[in-house]
Amino acid sequence: MHRLLHEEHAADAVAVSTGRLPAADAVAALVREGHERYRGVRDGAVADYIPALAAADPAWFGVALCGVDGGLFAAGDADRVFSIQSISKPFVFALVCQALGGGRARDSIGVNATGLPFNSVMAIELNARRTMNPMVNAGAIATTSLIPGANEDERWDFLCDGLSRFAGRTLAMDQGVYESEAASNQRNRGIARLLHGYGRMYSDPDEATDLYTRQCALMVSARDLAVMGATLADGGVNPVTGLRVLYPDRCRRILAVMATAGLYEQSGDWLYEVGLPGKSGVSGGLVTIAPGKCGLGTFAPPLDDAGNSVRGQLVTQFLSERLGLNIFASKPEDTG
Ligand code: GLU
Repeated sequence: MHRLLHEEHAADAVAVSTGRLPAADAVAALVREGHERYRGVRDGAVADYIPALAAADPAWFGVALCGVDGGLFAAGDADRVFSIQSISKPFVFALVCQALGGGRARDSIGVNATGLPFNSVMAIELNARRTMNPMVNAGAIATTSLIPGANEDERWDFLCDGLSRFAGRTLAMDQGVYESEAASNQRNRGIARLLHGYGRMYSDPDEATDLYTRQCALMVSARDLAVMGATLADGGVNPVTGLRVLYPDRCRRILAVMATAGLYEQSGDWLYEVGLPGKSGVSGGLVTIAPGKCGLGTFAPPLDDAGNSVRGQLVTQFLSERLGLNIFASKPEDTG
């Protein structure tokens, strides 16, 4: 696994959850401290498979936290927008779960880890059900093919409106990212057609791949990701707008799938070290959810070998430990 996650913190620095976030001034100070602590880290490489991503400045670094009470804390480049890429996957799955129900969504897509790269064709061939989960491309494109609507325009509006409700503002697409990705997404088109051949696509495969490519090009900031994450932390209610985006029973299913497969092939390592559901993307974003407490959004373009933002992981691990967010951390009942 990536050596950076092995950075050991003193055992007594790891706070145990009290069921709620610490006081606002403590949270604000820790968000600032986390940003300051890792801003100089230069490890990792910016994704360059499309020119629009390769142009990112490796020094960009934004951190944001949104509490379930709507309180927002940010440091660094928290308002700089970037294409959401794979972080769209849990939110589109959420919209499909909301529309179809968690049971039908699971039966149509699957919720188990593949153990293989996010754009693996092998994973389709090796598994009798063909799609394994909505966090990898096969399952994600199949999920997009389940978006309701009479035609592609209606489906796009449904998707774009839905993700905007998570963010609490209208999200726009980066045309340049969309066009360069659409010109080079033969592999994803191949995946969609292969799934179509296996009866595991639920609308036209080329149209679903196009919609998927557009959803990946939606622009968000670390602050947006924090609000989107906080909506999942808040049982499906956006804590900033006060509007329900998702029923609570759907919400916990999304978090389960993120915990299983949110950080590419390092999802187990991530859960082991940080103890929270999250989802990363190739442009350097990372969203992490502390259920009942907050959403964290980070942005730092350089990625490790698995494709996860190096500084994003470091600062999220730091905040998980210092804020007592790890869902697996507990201490014995005081019997004294
Ligand atoms: N648009 C990218 C793809 O499907 C998403 C990559 C990612 O963020 O993992 O190839």
